[in-house]
Amino acid sequence: MKKYIIGNWKMNPSTFAEADRLASRIQMLNRGSAEVVLCPPVYFLAQLSKKFPQLFWGAQDCFWEASGAYTGEISSEYIRTHGAAFVLLGHSERRMYLEESDEMVAKKLRHVLKRKLTPVLCVGGGEGLREPEQCLAAARIQLTTAVRGIPGKILAGGRIIIAYEPTWAIGTGRPATSKHIAAAASLIREQISSHYGTIIADGTPVLYGGSVNASIVPKLKKKSNLQGYLVGGASLNALEFSKIIELS
Ligand code: PEP
Repeated sequence: MKKYIIGNWKMNPSTFAEADRLASRIQMLNRGSAEVVLCPPVYFLAQLSKKFPQLFWGAQDCFWEASGAYTGEISSEYIRTHGAAFVLLGHSERRMYLEESDEMVAKKLRHVLKRKLTPVLCVGGGEGLREPEQCLAAARIQLTTAVRGIPGKILAGGRIIIAYEPTWAIGTGRPATSKHIAAAASLIREQISSHYGTIIADGTPVLYGGSVNASIVPKLKKKSNLQGYLVGGASLNALEFSKIIELS
């Protein structure tokens, strides 16, 4: 299965010149066989994807309707026609600060799949989730709610990427343990398998996100059944990001 290293730049950097510099450094890296996807702030997406077509691009969110009176929202049409093929959905910061619910994420997921974009569904994060076990339990519910009613044939062949991102590990410098991540990856696969069977489960890439840095990658590579990483802070540092790619 393909490996994905996805950089979530969040609301950084603050100027286009800095974003341009960072993308240009990342573009020069030896990316091996990994699919490196960058998710910059959406207002930089058009220019960056045009200037660096060798990289894969993604958006950090997408609304569930194609167009209409939805102030401030981002349409799938904009994302698709501005060089992006991937969309993060249900990121824990959106769940926490914007009260994005499992049902909202489910609507977004359906829409994004219909528009032939690849969703990166983030699970395990949200308000009040402080303990590892809570994040696992939340991941199970979030995943089930998101995919409910979607026919298996739509999700076959890696059409959806799942990123396990426990709240307490995001942006804290404290990644989850490899044991916890391996347990989460198994839980996610079992959950998909229980809905859709093992072929679809085995074909679905599962990533980990939460304070990923180059030093934890070798350990995770040995111990967990992952197909890559969703990287926040470290994706803003081309050198650290390059090491993550190299070691993955
Ligand atoms: C993220 O925002 O998806 C993330 C994992 O952030 P960080 O790597 O900074 O914890």
